[in-house]
Amino acid sequence: MAVIELPEAINLAWQISKELKGKQIASGVRGSSPHKFAFTGKHSDEEFAAIVKDKTIGTARADGSVILTDLEPGYVLSLGLGGERILYHTSEKTLPKKHQLLLNFKDDTYLTVTVSGWGEVRLLEQSEVPRHPHIKKKAISPFSDEFTLAYFNSLFDSLPENKRVSAKYFIISEPGIWGVGNGCLQDILYRAKIHPKRQMVTLLSEERRTLYDVIKQTLNDIIELGGRDNERDLYNKPGGYQRILHSKTVDHPCRECGTPIKKIQYLGGAAYFCPSCQAE
Ligand SMILES: [Zn+2]
Repeated sequence: MAVIELPEAINLAWQISKELKGKQIASGVRGSSPHKFAFTGKHSDEEFAAIVKDKTIGTARADGSVILTDLEPGYVLSLGLGGERILYHTSEKTLPKKHQLLLNFKDDTYLTVTVSGWGEVRLLEQSEVPRHPHIKKKAISPFSDEFTLAYFNSLFDSLPENKRVSAKYFIISEPGIWGVGNGCLQDILYRAKIHPKRQMVTLLSEERRTLYDVIKQTLNDIIELGGRDNERDLYNKPGGYQRILHSKTVDHPCRECGTPIKKIQYLGGAAYFCPSCQAE
């Protein structure tokens, strides 16, 4: 299942700001197809519909893998986080049959959100955003100026001495790179030549430097190409970033050395790697 991560969230936020800003909501329906793992917050579907009616779309921004869109005045719509398809429609004809959110704008265009797996369709008051349950207060985005090599090295210093922390855990859990999940992780570790189970205390300073550069470079490449190839943008167009490692590359030769790519289940998800380039 494809899951929105930071580069896709940034891309979708740009597109929402560009395409939808200024549009006024004629009606908003959540829960035409109720979903167990849609994180919906405190409002009932009826309250949701009453609040969003006549609101105007403002600016959207990404915070990690969450997309926050201002609903003016006073509210914020929170999307993303998981496996979501967030689509803009200029005609009724392309509306999906099942969806967890349908916004009908007064100019007869639409936004739909379909959740697969889990995801956010949450309404918040502006003042509640700092207490958003899926946003870390002090998270530093890998795209921010604060994401320096010194900051990245400080993450290693913060590792508990007696705890074994693997590369995968380090990047997607604790301390974590904000917005990076099990999807972007695969190519990051491949490009850095680090095994998903590699203990982070064993990384040499050059390897830390490489990993730091690769995180920034990989996320940047994904953004520039409009997302990963298994994700869709606001216009239902697949991203242009061709993933190096994914389920279909298992047993195929590594493009660097020819060794067959392996797959393991590790920390609640698949991990793909080249056993030769990424020695454990
Ligand atoms: Zn290889």
